Parts: sequence; structure tokens; C-alpha cells
Amino acid sequence: MDAPTYTPEDAPVPTGEVVVERLCTPQELGPKLNRTAADVVRFLLQNGEMVTATQSLPDEMIELFAADLGVEIRLVDPGEEKETELQALLAIERDVELDLTERPPVVTVMGHVDHGKTKLLDQIRNADVVAGEAGGITQHIGAYQVHKNGHRITFIDTPGHEAFTAMRARGAEATDIVVLVVAADDGVMPQTVEAISHAQAAEVPIVVALNKIDRPNANPSRVMQQLAEHDLVPEQWGGNTVTVEVSALENLGIDELLEHILVVAELEELRAYPSGRAEGVVLESHLDVGRGPVATLLVQDGCLRVGEPVVAGAAWGRVRALMNDRGEQVSEAGPGTPIRVLGLSAVAVAGAGFAVAPNEKVAARVASTREHWQRIASLGRDLSVVAGGGRLEDIFQEIQAGETATLKLIVKADMNGSLEAVIDALRKIERDDVKMVFVHRAVGAVTENDIQLAATAGATIIGFNVRPDRKARGLADTEQVEIRTYEVIYQIIDDVQAALLGMLAPSYEEHVTGEAEVREIFRIRGVGAVAGCYVQHGAVNRGSKVRFLRDGTVIWKGEIRSLRRFKDDVPEVRAGFECGVGLSNFQDLKSGDVIETYEEREVLPT
Ligand code: GDP
Repeated sequence: MDAPTYTPEDAPVPTGEVVVERLCTPQELGPKLNRTAADVVRFLLQNGEMVTATQSLPDEMIELFAADLGVEIRLVDPGEEKETELQALLAIERDVELDLTERPPVVTVMGHVDHGKTKLLDQIRNADVVAGEAGGITQHIGAYQVHKNGHRITFIDTPGHEAFTAMRARGAEATDIVVLVVAADDGVMPQTVEAISHAQAAEVPIVVALNKIDRPNANPSRVMQQLAEHDLVPEQWGGNTVTVEVSALENLGIDELLEHILVVAELEELRAYPSGRAEGVVLESHLDVGRGPVATLLVQDGCLRVGEPVVAGAAWGRVRALMNDRGEQVSEAGPGTPIRVLGLSAVAVAGAGFAVAPNEKVAARVASTREHWQRIASLGRDLSVVAGGGRLEDIFQEIQAGETATLKLIVKADMNGSLEAVIDALRKIERDDVKMVFVHRAVGAVTENDIQLAATAGATIIGFNVRPDRKARGLADTEQVEIRTYEVIYQIIDDVQAALLGMLAPSYEEHVTGEAEVREIFRIRGVGAVAGCYVQHGAVNRGSKVRFLRDGTVIWKGEIRSLRRFKDDVPEVRAGFECGVGLSNFQDLKSGDVIETYEEREVLPT
């Protein structure tokens, strides 16, 4: 390592904005601002922070140093600049404009709670003639398509503006038209107003569905009056907001609504490239027991085909199968089509972009580079919360000490939906004197990385329907990281609330007693299904509590009822031996799954 050269303290500093990557070290930061690493270290020391020249700096320290020099900086996430390079690798050259064809509009339904969004989405879907004739089974994949007058309309099937804003926050512009549902008997309510602002901010046209028109106290003109106050002047009154009276319950006005959506779509002149490599956005993604990561993608341009290498955020894979909203396997999907994709390496975030890569190598490279930077970025987030306690067990003491306590949590869950639900529920119990910091949140098993993160950040790990694997558990023991696993959300909330009151109940520490891998499933007459297993660690006992795991996710819990070696019933089988585990209640095991036996021991909070 070169010794830092001496810079006179009064050397001129750069003028204008300097782009600085988060988590840079004094060695990297100094030269950007025409100073040495030693200058940075010395300055921070004078301000009570001891760092080395090669240590990553939290935002505050970088900002402090820059501010002292009077340099304006813009902090960017590590990898943000790399992303431009990655985009270039995926860039798709499109043919001339002539190639463009009409594409279906993508519609999101928003409105106040209970105004009938879900009912309306159901009716629209059920009323679709073509879908009905095809006889396919309705699949909720996050979006569906209906047919009207020879055109298609795509509906995003998670109503509400939360999904819409979450997507927009990630830069995804998936929605072309917003259907604003307003109950004619209730009128414009707070969430109606919010939905209007979101749609207007995104410059997405709004079609108003005046729902529940069947209700005796429905008062459409009063609602129109209210809408006009929010700049949505109905066409009937000379404005340009399309307003359709419907009853989702009695199936009235639905056709008219669809027709009006098509009229608005036509005005928008929605066009797309029908061929060439596909690109678009991730609508939904989760981990499926048995099928691995599953994602619903909305193709925006080009045509997605089975077998193609696709990158979705930091996940990639060769498309193994494509499934439409009726559960039918298809070989390709064009613009405006929502499609379920199997074959990705990991769960992708909703709102992330996807693109077919020129080849598998590029796809793998883009995904792994992104993953690398995401990991660094998430480490960075922890850096700023490293100081202080933050564990669930200690939180009450901190509150007592009169400080604002910070509860640091790492949340892992089996799917995106439950992850968001857990976080939402936790957010609701946040108090003025207790701040909650979600150091990391992700879908998947609790891994060694999570433990490491928890150890550095002083965080507690909450697992929802997921478990630490063996290595993670070992590391958690040595690092003394608290892992709490749950299967119901209210119990998480109860525990956290109890901790805040200093009344954290004794937790039952689970002590894993044995681990066996499923090698084969047999059917034996008179006995039923039996899993042929190899005991890898500890011992498996008849009568012990057991969990079946697939990729770290709990797929079943219960008790071991029958245990055999060859033809004999035995009470115990130790590591290094094979055994047969009877599956009276849970049949759906397959080879590669893990059977984990455990005991519960009460531990009192320290
Ligand atoms: P969301 O919260 O906006 O998704 O509202 P839902 O679709 O769950 O509907 C809320 C309630 O209103 C349910 O009980 C529906 O059956 C009822 N509802 C929905 N549309 C209509 C309608 O057109 N007329 C009447 N009378 N009730 C409706």
C-alpha cells in the first residue's frame, strides 16, 4: 500500500458537486476531495471517531468531512454507476418505428377500502367470455387479461395504491390507466384522495367507476361534485374525466366500463415492439415449495420465450416454463401480457425491471454483479446503525435508561407477501421512544450472512415460516445472535410488545436434536408413505417433534409417529444410519428435503 502523499491543508478543494460512493474508505474519499486518507482519518479523530484508512465510512462521516471542507457531495449507492454498465450489456436494439404495434393497456384499480375494488376485479375477470370458453382454471398470478371488442385489457390484480407506489418507487411504470373505484353511497374518502394524487403524480389517466349504484342511498351526482373538487370533472359536466356507473355486486355497467377503458387506451396510443428480446417489469415474486422461485412478469416490449436467459433484478435463469393467467403452459408472451415464469435463481423484487439477455453468460454476470452491490449496500445500511444495543432482550433497559431506544431487526420470511405483512405489523407498534430499524429484510431461510449482519449491527433476527440452517444456527450460537422464529404474525407482535414493556416471556429455545436428509419416498402396503432418510447429525427419535424443511422453509411440523430400520420399528436412529420415517399426515415430501427433530427448552430473558 502506498503511503498517502502529503497534501497541504489549504490545497484547493474541487468545485461543483462531487459524486461519492457510499461506504467508501478514507483512502478513496480523500483523493476525491483533494485530500489524503490521513487527512480524513485525522479529521474524524478530532471529531471523536476512530477509523482506519481502509475502513468503510457511514454516510454521516463522509458528509461531515465534506461539509468541513465546504464541498458539495452527492452520495450514491455503491454499484449505482456500475448499473449503467450493466444496462448497456442488456441493451436491446430495436428495429425501425414501423415495427410498433398496438398493445393492451395495463390497468390498476384503486380506491378507498370497502368501495368494491376486489369485487370489481373479480367480476371483470369472471365476465370474460374468451377465458370462460377456454375452460382454464383461474390462477391468481398478480395480473390477468380480458378480451373486449377484439382488444385485450390487462388488469393488475392487487388493488390499491400501495403496490402502485411501491412499483413507482423502483422506477417501474407499469400502469397505463387507473380505474378509481368510488362507492356511490359513500363518496370521496381519504384513500380516494390519496389514489387520485398518486395517479396524478404519475400522470396516469383516471377512469372513475361509481360503484354500488344498486344501493338505495347511492348518490352519483354528489360524488361527481366531490370528484370535481379534486380536478376530476366528469364528461357529463363538460370535463374530461370518464365516469361510469357500475355495480360490481349486480354485474351492472361492467361492459360499459371496459369499453371506456378501451377508448382512453386508444387516446394514449399505446404501442410496443412485438418481437425481439423481451423486457418489462416484475409484478410479483415468491418462493414456491417445490417449484422454487416463481415470478410474474409483465412483458412491456418484445416477446418472451421458453428457454431464453432472463435477468430480473438480481435474479437470473433460463425460462423453464411460462404459464398464463389461466394456468395454461404457453411457449411465448408478447407485450402487455402478464406471465408466470419458472426458472429464476432467486426471488426478484416487485417493481424491478427484467430483460432477456443476449446470452446466459451475460445474464449470470449482470445478476451476480447486482447481487454483489446489493449486499454491499445492505451492509452499508447496517453500518449506520452499528452503535448501541438494539436487541429485543435489551430493549426494555434502554427504554428505562430514558434514551430513545432503537430496536434493530432482521426479518426473513417465506414470501414477499408475508414479509411485507410482518414489517407492516411491526411498524404499527412503533412508539415515539422506540425506533425500529429494519437492518435487513428478505425472502428465504436464515443464513450465515444474516447472522453475521445481526452480530455486527446488534440486531435480533425474526424468521417467519423460515428457519436457520445448520451452519447459521452454529454461527448464531457462537456470535450470540438471538433468532426468533414464528408461524403467526400476532405472536411476533405480542413478543415485541412484551419486550417493550420489559415483559418478554421466556422464549422456548429450540434445541435441534437430529437432522436427516430424505433420499427416497416409498409406498408400503398397510403402512402408507415412508420417507427413506439418512441421519446426518444427532439422532432421530420416535415421538420427537419434527419439522420438514425444503430450502430452509418449513413445509410441515408435527411429530414422528413411526420410525423404522429395515422392517423393524425402532425408538431411535443415530447419525450415519439410514431409517424410514412414516408419513401419516404429510405426504408431500421429496428427496433432498430435510427432516429436523428438536426439543423445546424454556429460556428466561437475561
Ligand atoms: P375493497 O376493499 O375495495 O376491495 O372492497 P370489496 O371488493 O372487498 O367490497 C367491500 C364490500 O362491498 C363487500 O362486502 C362487497 O360485497 C360489497 N360490494 C362491492 N361492490 C358492491 C356493489 O356494487 N354493490 C353493493 N351493494 N355492494 C358491493
